[in-house]
Amino acid sequence: TQVVTLKQRPQGLPNSEHFELQSQSLPELADGQLLVKNLWMSVDPYMRGRMIDRKSYIAPFAIGEALEGGAIGEVIASNHSDFAVGDKVSSMLGWRNHFISDGEGLTKVPETGLPLQYFLGIMGMPGMTAWVGLNKIAELKAGDTVFVSAASGAVGSAVCQIAKLQGATVIGSTGSADKVELLKSLGVDKVINYKQVEDLNVALGEAAPNGIDVYFENVGGEHLEAALNHMNDYGRIALCGMIAHYNAMEPQAGPTNLANLIIKKLKIEGFIVFDHWQHYGEFAAQMGQWLAEGKVKSEETVYQGLENAAEAFIGLFSGKNTGKMLVQLNP
Ligand code: NDP
Repeated sequence: TQVVTLKQRPQGLPNSEHFELQSQSLPELADGQLLVKNLWMSVDPYMRGRMIDRKSYIAPFAIGEALEGGAIGEVIASNHSDFAVGDKVSSMLGWRNHFISDGEGLTKVPETGLPLQYFLGIMGMPGMTAWVGLNKIAELKAGDTVFVSAASGAVGSAVCQIAKLQGATVIGSTGSADKVELLKSLGVDKVINYKQVEDLNVALGEAAPNGIDVYFENVGGEHLEAALNHMNDYGRIALCGMIAHYNAMEPQAGPTNLANLIIKKLKIEGFIVFDHWQHYGEFAAQMGQWLAEGKVKSEETVYQGLENAAEAFIGLFSGKNTGKMLVQLNP
């Protein structure tokens, strides 16, 4: 089989030199083991953080070892009593075509009739992140005005749609004309193309004449600074990600206008979705219903084959994706 390993730790933006596609042979299946053929793998911005050798909420990737990440595969051989050939399983063993497991860390994908890859996107970690950030962190209320950055991405496109369904006015920021159109088609009230506007702060003020109650932060930097300027009193900021900083070679300057937190009595809170996984059932029931009713649409960008996985990952940092960035394996 084949795996993608981390060849060297990137400084700044990763490129193909930092990754290596390697062939590996798989041993015979022992008792209690099963063999999985991966069908889909996820690439996510957080993986950039795991390429840095530092202490964080999750251990760094090791040089020369296969990378890890969310994946969905099919059991193709089993000596394990809980798993049968044909079962679909999700794991954190992406970045490889096949793997042998003793079942630990594997979850069977429920039979919902939804496309399997939804469980890496709208029905999986990114969808859950959107729902947790809005409801458990920002305490969204009907009538709120929500601003979301990286609005056309996996998390962002879910934030936009959930916030609309829960009665909010939604302003999104994204980086291309096509993505602006997509967001409008999803019902987003105002969309800013942050690459086209002269001054994001001015553009946001025009898009949010009555101010912002909830800022869903995916980007950091200039976006956070602009949001702080336009927050309403008692506004809430859910700090989900700061992708604009992930490849920075030096510490980034903070917003110069943090005093808004005091003057406007704002609440700002960072979160990691996995700490909220006990609510997954509640989220999945709601999202499953919205999808079945056609009230939420899943957007995705698909690269083909493990050999293109690194390119898909690198593409996250220049907006090559609309919706969830995925790699289809073993088609
Ligand atoms: P996305 O699908 O949103 O992909 C990343 C997008 O970010 C790109 O498509 C691009 O869109 C935008 N982007 C990239 N670089 C920049 C930049 N310098 N400035 C502005 N926008 C940029 O990824 P996800 O939905 O998976 O993740 C979104 C955010 O949520 C990330 O910050 C991620 O780290 C975070 N996250 C946090 C979790 C948590 O538990 N806290 C869980 C999951 C994700 P465009 O074309 O619009 O620029």
